[in-house]
Amino acid sequence: MKRIIFDMEHDMFRDSVRKFMQKEVAPHVDDWREAGIVDRDAFRKAGEQGLLMMWADEKYGGLGIEDFRYEQILIEENVRHGDASFFLSLHSRLVGPYIGKLGTEEQKQYFLPGCASGERILGIAMTESGAGSDLAGMKTHARLEGDHWVLTGSKTFISNGINGDLFVVAARTVPDKRHGLGLFLIEGDMVGFERGRNLKKMGLKAQDTAELFFDKVKVPAVNVLGDPHKGFYNLMHFLVEERLINAVGSISHAQVAFDLTMDYIGERKAFGQSIAAFQNTRFKMAEMRAQLDVAQTFLDQCVVQHNKGALTAETAAEAKLITSELEGQVMDECVQLHGGSGYMDEYRISRMYTDARVSRIYAGTSEIMKEIIARGIGLDSR
Ligand SMILES: Cc1cc2nc3c(=O)[nH]c(=O)nc-3n(C[C@H](O)[C@H](O)[C@H](O)COP(=O)(O)OP(=O)(O)OC[C@H]3O[C@@H](n4cnc5c(N)ncnc54)[C@H](O)[C@@H]3O)c2cc1C
Repeated sequence: MKRIIFDMEHDMFRDSVRKFMQKEVAPHVDDWREAGIVDRDAFRKAGEQGLLMMWADEKYGGLGIEDFRYEQILIEENVRHGDASFFLSLHSRLVGPYIGKLGTEEQKQYFLPGCASGERILGIAMTESGAGSDLAGMKTHARLEGDHWVLTGSKTFISNGINGDLFVVAARTVPDKRHGLGLFLIEGDMVGFERGRNLKKMGLKAQDTAELFFDKVKVPAVNVLGDPHKGFYNLMHFLVEERLINAVGSISHAQVAFDLTMDYIGERKAFGQSIAAFQNTRFKMAEMRAQLDVAQTFLDQCVVQHNKGALTAETAAEAKLITSELEGQVMDECVQLHGGSGYMDEYRISRMYTDARVSRIYAGTSEIMKEIIARGIGLDSR
């Protein structure tokens, strides 16, 4: 189905992003997967090309482009021609806006230019070994001591955890209040901050996912992000865009799997005919095409709503739920249609299958998305 939310400038931008991904990312993907980490240079090159922190004002090194469609295109082209493990949108559009929207002028001037150039890589640390879905249950805490905070605890499963230079870290600031959290800007060289190992994962092999440890890290007041007692509400606010970003990634991934499978079924023969001619294949592809068109159209409308500042937490949860579940179904069908080849590493569909599994888990699980949607229609559990 023809998509109707883009104009000529978006199309031109898409062409330039595609060239960037083909030249600067695709040739390195196998090496990055082997190393378990994206080369930092890729962030710098993306920065040079103006692909990082596009929303930031020019005085901070950005382009002043708030229109989410540009980020959507970046995600789509990264998934299609680059690699899903290259988390440049997590850096730019998932973490960066915390500094852009909550930061003081001093914080923005100090931190944002390095983020826009790709010298300073961003991550966000909410999850702990005992608190993922239930973020308000986190144990990492920060105590005010004179003019600075002292932060102690640990985080796990943190994306860009090894490459990251600056992390937005959530910590409890009010001991006996579940939602009494604050957000802190923790820099890689702060005393008491340590990274754990690069965690081995089922998929997203080039993405560095790590544990982070904080042993009485002295955090100056200038590194406190927003009201130190309103961190929970700030997290809830930014999770809306995080879920939209994930939804865009999921649908793009599913679209690529569909296209790869169209190519494969056209070439592969069995019982003297193309496997594309079997009714089962034709029906499976037809079903997927219809589901993808519906989901893409809904998601594009979510992007339009988001650009107007009107995307609700419930609708973003619907988008993430629908697209990530569909991504999982599409990957499974596409591996099946590839037969044994679909299980072999050398076929891209094989690694796409494992890359896709996490979409139903991170940025809030499918079950949490259903909780949010259910509450939105007045169905509370109590
Ligand atoms: C590759 C990867 C990258 C990640 N990157 C980051 C990152 O950069 N920063 C960060 O902070 N976190 C990150 N995460 C963490 C991720 O967001 C959490 O793993 C996720 O939110 C789930 O939390 P959990 O793992 O603690 O699972 P749990 O919360 O323990 O959930 C276990 C199961 O219980 C279910 N469940 C929990 N609560 C409910 C409920 N109320 N109703 C019904 N079912 C429920 C869940 O849906 C799930 O099926 C990442 C995770 C992965 C795997």
